[in-house]
Amino acid sequence: MIDRIFDFFVAIDKKSGNILQSVTNGPFKNFTFENLSNLERFFLEFAQFDGWPIFEEWGNYIFVREVKQDTVFYFAIPKKLNLIKHFYALQESSMRDKLTTCYKKEYCNEFIEKLIKTYLRYKNEKFSVVMFDLDFFKKINDTYGHLCGDYVLKNLANIVRKSLRDSDIFCRFGGEEFIIVLPKTPASGTLRLTQRLKEAVLAHDFICNDQHFQISASFGVTTVGMTDSTASLIERADQALYQAKRKGRNRVEYL
Ligand code: GH3
Ligand code: MG
Ligand code: MG
Repeated sequence: MIDRIFDFFVAIDKKSGNILQSVTNGPFKNFTFENLSNLERFFLEFAQFDGWPIFEEWGNYIFVREVKQDTVFYFAIPKKLNLIKHFYALQESSMRDKLTTCYKKEYCNEFIEKLIKTYLRYKNEKFSVVMFDLDFFKKINDTYGHLCGDYVLKNLANIVRKSLRDSDIFCRFGGEEFIIVLPKTPASGTLRLTQRLKEAVLAHDFICNDQHFQISASFGVTTVGMTDSTASLIERADQALYQAKRKGRNRVEYL
């Protein structure tokens, strides 16, 4: 059945990494995938993706990744089937946090991973990372209740999103901690944007149970360098954020 529907379909057991099923027809018929390195080589060398695809165009196909319980599926949908919008919407919604509609942490890491690879290959695409965290958010929960805290997070995400470009990647990294990844944006532009974000958050009039209040956030900013990994970049943004907190909050620090 599967081999009549898909030109490319691979199922992988998440735990062992074993290939459970592999179907290749049409332009992919000369490939066989016996293990993960075969598949990785196909994605990197043949398809020329920057890494394992999540949702990636290739010629007349879209490569999609789906994770269901213990199995990871990669398959290619022909563009002509016009299913793209449907798949894209599904894919997008599973990648996002329900409350804020920001990307989930795991995808943030993947996006950064891909940008680093591109940066190291072409050396001309400096990108920046902003990590921010609400100040004294625990107090909001304690004073106005958890539902009000949720409302603040949701609205905060909307305020921030308004200032971003379509190409920027906005993720909820933890409870009240967020990361913005800004492709093709060096430090100067990122710092200007971050100052604007800081002011926009502070200026917002939050209303919960008829009570008005303001909230501030602290921001840590950093820009990719030649020796960076995803972990080191996030770690530096986190340290910058820590400095902003230590120096009194409601401020931006760059490292
Ligand atoms: P700081 O300025 O040092 O960041 O102080 P803080 O109070 O913001 O920091 P802390 O990390 O102590 O508290 C974060 C709080 O955020 C604790 C947790 O209950 C709350 N929180 C995390 N996720 C959610 C959520 O989804 N909804 C609500 N309402 N609260 C959340
Ligand atoms: Mg906080
Ligand atoms: Mg926190």
